[in-house]
Amino acid sequence: MGLIKCELHGFVGALLVCPHISNDFSSKKLELKKYTSIQLPFDDDDKYLVTYWYCEKCLNQFGLNNRETLTLEEFIETYQAAFDILEPICGVCFVSYSNHVG
Ligand SMILES: [Zn+2]
Ligand SMILES: [Zn+2]
Repeated sequence: MGLIKCELHGFVGALLVCPHISNDFSSKKLELKKYTSIQLPFDDDDKYLVTYWYCEKCLNQFGLNNRETLTLEEFIETYQAAFDILEPICGVCFVSYSNHVG
């Protein structure tokens, strides 16, 4: 997990989200009602999971709903376009944001 600098929280762990979540989060519009986390292990035996967040539109656009269980590397290979759009946001701010979205 990379670090980013948040105006409120200083240097904190970043979450990677799709641009729609990022926009909704930054603009504080809170119009997005639903989004989904995708959890990927680094490799087959690894228990550590990497989490990415996508809105419904992206899940459908990239066909992420029906994917098989993939490792992080396989995910990046298979869904390069979905991986490339991810943007980092403050993980602490995201907690309060996600409480609004429900
Ligand atoms: Zn999206
Ligand atoms: Zn923050």
